[in-house]
Amino acid sequence: MFDYHVHTSYSPDSQMLMETACSRAVELGLKEIAITDHIDIDWPDSAFPALDARTLDQYFEDLTILQEKFKGCLSVKKGIEIGLQPHVLGECSDIIQAYPFDFVIASVHLVNGVDPYLGEYYADKTKEESYQLYYREVLSLIKSYDEFDVLGHLDYIKRYSPFPADDKDHLICSQLTDDIIITLIKKGKGLEINTSGYRHESKTPMPHLDIINRYRQFGGKIITLGSDAHRPEHIALGFDNVLKEIKKSGFSYLTSFTGRIPEYVPIP
Ligand SMILES: [Zn+2]
Ligand SMILES: [Zn+2]
Repeated sequence: MFDYHVHTSYSPDSQMLMETACSRAVELGLKEIAITDHIDIDWPDSAFPALDARTLDQYFEDLTILQEKFKGCLSVKKGIEIGLQPHVLGECSDIIQAYPFDFVIASVHLVNGVDPYLGEYYADKTKEESYQLYYREVLSLIKSYDEFDVLGHLDYIKRYSPFPADDKDHLICSQLTDDIIITLIKKGKGLEINTSGYRHESKTPMPHLDIINRYRQFGGKIITLGSDAHRPEHIALGFDNVLKEIKKSGFSYLTSFTGRIPEYVPIP
């Protein structure tokens, strides 16, 4: 159907050309793709600079060209994945308001300036402590920030945690994940189902299906599906599995966005 989380060469960690991503989406029979490159303001590693105003202008120009080029066979959405940190929320809001985005993913990639991708995040912490610290940060950030449509990869920490994985890991901080979900619903925000877990050890969607189900039980309606692709072969990876699972759980719609307005699209 739609892939709502795709990185291209505008992200420091991808070399995929936008056009390659779109062609691959057409090949796979997708109807729609949201390009969602990274903006991570004040990223600690200067080798990975964030998109800035100059590159964002170019980003929008390129996306407009692709929208024209693929008209009739693929709808291309102008998205972004914005990395939240407590001291940059004002700047994040300013950027999102200054550009005509279709879709905004808010993600938490850093806690106290450290990416849970790196081993140092876990130094002197138990599994519980490292999970708790991450979820607390997510909760606090989404309470203080409004310029987004969905929360990206809620259990990002699970993707990189060096502790042995357990299929009950999503229960470690269930009160905090409930609080995150309830906050999203109160604010009218959505939850992303990120399928990059299928490329990693867990082989499950992020967040865990139980968390996605809790979101629905509490009244959440806005879910998007994204592969977090950084290469053509990642696009729409795991979607068949996830669509089957979420249909079983009672979801009959996915959400697409145009100009930040959600539209509910039946799952075939
Ligand atoms: Zn991310
Ligand atoms: Zn991403």
